[in-house]
Amino acid sequence: MLHHDDALGSDHWNDKRIDVNGRQYALPCKPVAVICIDGFDPEYLDAALADGTMPTLAAWVQNGFACTVDAAMPTFTNPNNISIVTGVPPSVHGVSGNYFLDRDTGIETVMVDESFLRTGTILAALAGAGVPVASITAKDKLRKALGAGLKGISFSAQHAGATTLEENGIEAAEALVGRPAPDQYSADLSLFVLDAGIALLKEGRAKFLYLSLSDFIQHAHAPRSAESDDFLRAIDDRLQAIETLGARVALTADHGMKDKADGAGRPNVIYLQDYLNAIFGDDAVRIICPIADPFVRHHGGLGSFVRGYVRDGISVEDVLVAARKAPLVAEVLSAEAAAQRFSLPIDREGDFVALAADIAVIGASAGEHDVSTLAGHRLRSHGGISEQRVPLIASHPLVPGSADGILHNWDVFDVALNRMVRS
Ligand SMILES: [Zn+2]
Repeated sequence: MLHHDDALGSDHWNDKRIDVNGRQYALPCKPVAVICIDGFDPEYLDAALADGTMPTLAAWVQNGFACTVDAAMPTFTNPNNISIVTGVPPSVHGVSGNYFLDRDTGIETVMVDESFLRTGTILAALAGAGVPVASITAKDKLRKALGAGLKGISFSAQHAGATTLEENGIEAAEALVGRPAPDQYSADLSLFVLDAGIALLKEGRAKFLYLSLSDFIQHAHAPRSAESDDFLRAIDDRLQAIETLGARVALTADHGMKDKADGAGRPNVIYLQDYLNAIFGDDAVRIICPIADPFVRHHGGLGSFVRGYVRDGISVEDVLVAARKAPLVAEVLSAEAAAQRFSLPIDREGDFVALAADIAVIGASAGEHDVSTLAGHRLRSHGGISEQRVPLIASHPLVPGSADGILHNWDVFDVALNRMVRS
């Protein structure tokens, strides 16, 4: 649906707006980019600002707009990216984790397929209104969900070597960037996303960009480590390039990232399924750790939010009481309480939700998680309340009086398209 709005008299914006999921968005005539820096905890931003590691971003904080907002719970990549591109929480769009247990079949089902999305995306609506849109992600699984209904350019750095006009809206994305698709576990996977966006801007092929990075570096490297500083400098160089090409930018993160290891460097982990089954019997409780998908055990598949499923004949209430006494567990909520408090779709909940203490993660069973993949690093992860606060930064100041109500990372499209000053 299009609306005319005479107040939008600026050459950066069209005089039309679109309605998506209860909000209106102005249509850009000049480039606008929304960037999701995966795992960009406020600690990385604070260190970068104090140390001068990200001068472009520092200038935006100074001269544009910056605040801290809440990510969607659970603080995982997919629910948050989908919240960002739909402008609504998981209770509305339906994706509340990377996978869930299908109660009817007992099968662990990946939830990034677009068939799990219950709403349209702002990206698809912008493209539908005639704006040339490009959505570029680090990983291909996320690309598929974000590209739902999108008639534009949509590809991942991971599969940049195999893009087709039919599937991705672009042939040979590798050639666009001028280097091969990076390894999926590399810093370059994120930088490739940004470089692809820059190339599209240079060629005038996109007026709206959504660029979603990977948290590979943040999972292994704390703020102020050499690896983190190098990565943030490389991101900042690209932010400057995007700004120089005339784009307005709003950026946020899908979640924060916290240290989850003890003084000796061992992960602070409670295997909650093992713990509860020792009390209630074998197979009494199934714990699902929806941070990763069931097939890729990246960072050991350990995060700070899990869902529990209780076998028929066992009292859920008794299990809740026992789970609350488990070490390193901060909170245990019934499905209804979790859905209400965190705006989650109740039909995709388990029987309960368990949240780890800030310094800890929750696993299912010791045998299911391979912590050897940490390769000598302290475990850093996310998923809980302690990773909910994230930065939201705009390259330009906001219209006076329009900073109220920016509370969540899924407000970033509203900031990018509606709230920055017009001139
Ligand atoms: Zn993430």
